[in-house]
Amino acid sequence: MGKLKIAVQKSGRLHDDSVGLLQECGIDLRNVKDRLRTESDDFPLEVFFLRDDDIPQYVEDGVADVGIVGENVLQEKGRTVEVVQALGFGKCRLSLAAPRSEVWEGPASLRGRRIATSYPRIVGAYLQRQGIEAEIHEISGSVEIAPGIGLADVVADLVSSGGTLFMNGLREVETILQSQAVLIRYQGMTAEGQALLESLLFRIRAVKRAKRNKYVLLNAPNERLGEVIALLPGMKSPTVLPLAESGWSSVHSVLSEEEFWERIEQLKTAGAQGILVIPIEKMVL
Ligand code: ATP
Ligand code: ZN
Repeated sequence: MGKLKIAVQKSGRLHDDSVGLLQECGIDLRNVKDRLRTESDDFPLEVFFLRDDDIPQYVEDGVADVGIVGENVLQEKGRTVEVVQALGFGKCRLSLAAPRSEVWEGPASLRGRRIATSYPRIVGAYLQRQGIEAEIHEISGSVEIAPGIGLADVVADLVSSGGTLFMNGLREVETILQSQAVLIRYQGMTAEGQALLESLLFRIRAVKRAKRNKYVLLNAPNERLGEVIALLPGMKSPTVLPLAESGWSSVHSVLSEEEFWERIEQLKTAGAQGILVIPIEKMVL
């Protein structure tokens, strides 16, 4: 039987979360460190460890069936691949930053200026959308020092907290692109490859869903069970078990992160006590 070939970053900001996601999917990888490729014993998967910049091309060419890469790199490379799933990690933004002393009057302030960036294609498209002419200076790393050494007036660089910009006397002035890691796939996959991808996706979605939900156990007086249950949708409906103490029940259910705190407060108001919240490892609907 064939294996699904996946390209992930060899080392860097996406490496640990990418390997971690596969592990949470029950796919253990041997010898992740210092290897160019490895296989899994638990799933027909072969992993290639590459520089993130090379991943879109490997997937476009079908050398790898799928890959995990940031949307920023994907857009910059402009390769023909399909995005199958946003993964929720590696979140950052590509932003314009100017020296703190500079008066910023919106994108028009870029007119005729020199912009240092490692993302010439994305920045070029942004300038075009804004109808602004400016000079793009492509630099491959340490973009944030360019204004300080007189190489550029502003920079377009990846930001997550903004700390690096601040240390270099820069201020974030516009966001060009929001980015996160995504799973991409080769467009010419075989039927067998697609079936393997479906089964990987099934696991990834179960893991992601589980992360968004919590298992909740609580005790409620029987006379208020109706109120409590109305607050808990559960996967089908909550489980209700009698407590040893008469007049009380234990209620078990699942709550999503978005409604979690609000519901917990409402549950307390409805008479719930001894509320326990437990992480869920996998969740299959
Ligand atoms: P490689 O050696 O694989 O080319 P790299 O140096 O280009 O690595 P990293 O710095 O490891 O890349 O970042 C990989 C990806 O992580 C980025 O392309 C981006 O999608 C994401 N990322 C998340 N937060 C940040 C951040 N604050 N700065 C840079 N990248 C970030
Ligand atoms: Zn890179």
